[in-house]
Amino acid sequence: MKLNMTLTIKEIEIRREGDSHGNLMVLQLTSYLDRKLYAIAVPQAWQSSTGPTWVYLIDSQGLTLIDTGGPGSYEHLAQGIEQAGFRVADIERVIITHGHLDHDGGVAQLMAQNGAQLWAHHMYAHLLPYHHWEIMRTSAGPLQREFRRIAEAGMRSHMGRIFQGNEQVSAYSAQRKVMKVDHMVQDGDRVGDLNFIYAPGHSPDEICISLDGLVFTGDHVLPEITPHPTFKAEFPDPVREKLPKEYQDGKKQYGLRVYIRSLEKISQLDPHTTVLPAHRLFNKNRLNLLTVRRAREIVKHHINRLHSIVLRLGNQPTSLEQITRGIFAKRNLIGGNFYMALSEVVSHIELLVDTEDVEVREDGMIIWRGSENFRRIIQLGK
Ligand SMILES: [Zn+2]
Ligand SMILES: [Zn+2]
Repeated sequence: MKLNMTLTIKEIEIRREGDSHGNLMVLQLTSYLDRKLYAIAVPQAWQSSTGPTWVYLIDSQGLTLIDTGGPGSYEHLAQGIEQAGFRVADIERVIITHGHLDHDGGVAQLMAQNGAQLWAHHMYAHLLPYHHWEIMRTSAGPLQREFRRIAEAGMRSHMGRIFQGNEQVSAYSAQRKVMKVDHMVQDGDRVGDLNFIYAPGHSPDEICISLDGLVFTGDHVLPEITPHPTFKAEFPDPVREKLPKEYQDGKKQYGLRVYIRSLEKISQLDPHTTVLPAHRLFNKNRLNLLTVRRAREIVKHHINRLHSIVLRLGNQPTSLEQITRGIFAKRNLIGGNFYMALSEVVSHIELLVDTEDVEVREDGMIIWRGSENFRRIIQLGK
């Protein structure tokens, strides 16, 4: 196996071998300040092309676990913690990067085993009682209407095939409704040596956590794959009314522009900062230890994607489906991936509408206006 180091990680020891995608692997990392931390790959309880969830164990004013892995994987998490040389009972604090089930799916079981505190962003705490589809009021405009027309039924049955009848997932949803966050963090908070950075865009409650030259990025910055951006949305009234004032505006938490702004925040950390992601830290027998440059690469990927969409549009009114099939390779449009690709194209077109490069007609057809204003508006940090 190839072990590439960064400047802020000086040593890596394999505590437990995993499979070629990293499932069950446990690594001990030593930072340049001689801090030891542990990366544990918790497998998903279902078929997943994203791979295991990497959770991290650090000692910072008490043993702290970042994320837990998904529902049905608690035994693997507990074994991983032991393999790292600790007991579940020793964990004093669990920090959740964001409220997707592959990250907080083991929280309830873990909390039942010990008296750990649950830490997360304000938004996580407020969105806990809701399902994902309950926290987005999508737009009635022609673009999202077109997306719903093509994708809604198919997407639901695709998700249904994966999760329906999965007892652990149902138990997880029920537990979330009664879970309480003990400590809510927000952007800029500093607790001991942990710094919290609010990074919405992939999820409205996402945080990154930095400490001595390292940043735990959850799903905000990933190696190998580009995290899925949300599309523009508002919070449905009953949800919004319960949110703190500063978080009520969906425009600040949903959409590709929001996601890119959050990426810029991470790319502005010290350039030697090592990214510790929640997926793909190890894959295909390779360790992906990257710096925050990766956040800039993801921004560049989106700039290129915006460019290929306008090229694809040319001077012909084009449908959402035509664009999607035109810019994604066929193999990336199989099964549920088609809906993911389609929704990604929606977020890109929304950005192009905001930058006045593109227009969406009432019948859903998309027209390029001949400009690439987005290049001026998305400024890549130096
Ligand atoms: Zn996620
Ligand atoms: Zn994830």
